[in-house]
Amino acid sequence: MNIFEQHESEVRGYCRSFPAVFSTAKGAWMTDTTGRRYLDFFSGAGVLNYGHNPDRLKQALLGYLMRDGITHTLDMYSEAKATFIEQFQQVILEPRGLEYKLQFPGPTGTNAVEAALKLARKVTGREQVVGFTNAFHGMTLGSLSVTGNGFKRAGAGVPLTNAASMPFDGYLGADTDTLDYFEAMLLDNGSGMELPAAVIIETVQAEGGVNVASHTWLQRLREMTQRHGIVLIVDDIQVGCGRTGHFFSFEEAGIAPDIVTLSKSLSGYGLPMALVLIKPELDQWAPGEHNGTFRGHCPAFVTATAALSFWRDDRLQQSVKRKGEQVQEKLERMLRKHEVKGNVRGLGLIYGVEFADTELAGRVSQACFERGLIVETAGIDDQVLKLLPSLTIKEDELAHGLDIIDQSLQACVKQCVLEAA
Ligand SMILES: *Cc1c(COP(=O)(O)O)cnc(C)c1O
Repeated sequence: MNIFEQHESEVRGYCRSFPAVFSTAKGAWMTDTTGRRYLDFFSGAGVLNYGHNPDRLKQALLGYLMRDGITHTLDMYSEAKATFIEQFQQVILEPRGLEYKLQFPGPTGTNAVEAALKLARKVTGREQVVGFTNAFHGMTLGSLSVTGNGFKRAGAGVPLTNAASMPFDGYLGADTDTLDYFEAMLLDNGSGMELPAAVIIETVQAEGGVNVASHTWLQRLREMTQRHGIVLIVDDIQVGCGRTGHFFSFEEAGIAPDIVTLSKSLSGYGLPMALVLIKPELDQWAPGEHNGTFRGHCPAFVTATAALSFWRDDRLQQSVKRKGEQVQEKLERMLRKHEVKGNVRGLGLIYGVEFADTELAGRVSQACFERGLIVETAGIDDQVLKLLPSLTIKEDELAHGLDIIDQSLQACVKQCVLEAA
């Protein structure tokens, strides 16, 4: 029994799938204490979009620490925060024609979601929030109430209230526009549904199995929520910060949400940081009405500012597009080659393969780990192999990882045939 099994709580999760003890990491590679190297197609569930310990962020962080830059200020003003706000305006918001106030909640994603839900309820005076099937918004009670996963919901131990679940795009098959149902519920006074304060949505459901909402569906949702006076919250915690190829996942659909939550890759270095973007007219918080001790961790502001340098031109965006096409093509070719039934979906550099055989994704993930590749599963039955390489991964590294998936799939299919015989 190792020290973790002996002393760490049973709640441990990912370490059960990937039981190495990691010690160092650089770029797309992680190294364990035995010196074994693993290629990372997981990227901390979207925390490490720029890879492990990216040089320009590390230099900025080291410089800040070496000159005794202030680390903690609660939410008092700091030079590091001023620089981040100024650069975020200049590099991200202004060029996209977006106008938002910035709220720094506690440093986790779920804290940003809680803040967004509270604020939507406060400004509308209403209680209900609509989430979607297979959504994932975090583990605190408000976030859980709009999360789909029954196992995680049950962990709450209390009723999850003031929330309703609507079918996500494609939930009822390709021929049904699920917003017809939502709209009918809103319009009919006999539907039994109250007018919600807010709708919260991931444009690409990541934990939920890489489900991609179409642009037309998102545009219709924006139009509907506007017409009914419902606050539209886009949870861009996992698929924002460039994961879909643009800084925000909703850019290509051409919509502007009322509230946006960001976290995971925002600091760009794996330092905890979260941000709530609020349309100015909705910024009706009273001072300190939502607070937290670690709001605005200065070293995270420093690396987050350095990370914005990736967004000063469209080089990263172009390379994500190129690499994404490579991933999609290779995954589709793999399924054909091994005659495996499945469905490849995604965009940017988030891709999922949903296998008809629901056990296959888990087996392939394990086989990949044995061959030195970290790639996780997603979806309610862990039926989707979820690829999340860093955006900055080199093309030959990407090809190497895809080859490992190919070999692992082949081995698993062979094993299945043997077991069936
Ligand atoms: C990870 C995630 C969260 C929760 O973030 P934590 O930092 O784990 O609290 C919320 N929403 C989405 C879409 C996420 O992927």
